[in-house]
Amino acid sequence: MGNYFGMMSRMIRYQKENDLFSFIVNYHAMTTIQAPSILENNTINAALDFIALGLDPEKSTFWIQADVPQVTEFTWIISNVTNVGLIERSTSYKDKISKGVMPNMGLFSYPILMASDILCFGGDIVPVGKDQKQHLEMTRDIAIKFNNTYGETLVVPEPDIEQETQLLPGIDGQKMSKSYNNTIPIFGDEKFIRKQIMSIVTDSIPVDEPKNIKSPLFKLFVLFLDEKGKKDLKRRFLSPGLQYGDVKKELFETIIEYFRPFREKREYLSGHMDYVYEQLSNGSNKAGVVADQILSKVRKVTGLNYRV
Ligand code: AMP
Repeated sequence: MGNYFGMMSRMIRYQKENDLFSFIVNYHAMTTIQAPSILENNTINAALDFIALGLDPEKSTFWIQADVPQVTEFTWIISNVTNVGLIERSTSYKDKISKGVMPNMGLFSYPILMASDILCFGGDIVPVGKDQKQHLEMTRDIAIKFNNTYGETLVVPEPDIEQETQLLPGIDGQKMSKSYNNTIPIFGDEKFIRKQIMSIVTDSIPVDEPKNIKSPLFKLFVLFLDEKGKKDLKRRFLSPGLQYGDVKKELFETIIEYFRPFREKREYLSGHMDYVYEQLSNGSNKAGVVADQILSKVRKVTGLNYRV
């Protein structure tokens, strides 16, 4: 749900009017997943999730990151205009190693690969959650440094962060993230979703006192409500008598109803994998053409093309 409300839902909305490029980041996933079968499963599952949630692979350019390996060459090239100090300031790296993730070089230099993900395809607007704001700033710094060094070549992108969904809390109140085991998985087993929702952290404010509208339970629930629904929930939170357990049960019902059509579509897609693979191949071909065009300019301006 963090990915969906932080980024996917906007991409899906944007694809109607924009030339959307999006992909499943299996090179990035390697920074923390070293079991091949898990990486394979997660990659295809993420692709199915995205299409089931509404990404239209026939309209947008949608691919699996490692199917367009040009991005790794691009990463090497831009690494040489990237100051080590810039990467050392990455808060997400520090955060991950403090949580016990192995500090490998891939994890450390992940913001450079992320910069390539954007710059290698000429991305100009990048919908992200607030947690990625710093990485977008790094991407801009790298693009500007490249252009200052080699002349105007790369598009300097702008982040697009939505106020309301900028950082979704997980069930423990921290940022919702798979690395923290605090997610509500849209396509998870219903029993598990219920268990997660019933475990959303709450406080010990007595029943007959007003409740906290900054709590994760409130913040998660309003995502599914229209303006009137939000006002009503706020009023209920601020009036005495509200029981957190009741609200959690309502939230569970709401989430299951909201995502039901997506869950059905995903079920259908998983029985039609040939279609999914074909769309992914088309996507990587389209993305590869764009990457080749930009890489060819980059190779020229940097002096990698030695034939005269
Ligand atoms: P990640 O799964 O951390 O690689 O993030 C993928 C995308 O989802 C990025 O655009 C993030 O900013 C966004 N995202 C991930 N977790 C959250 C969250 N808890 N709240 C808002 N956006 C998120």
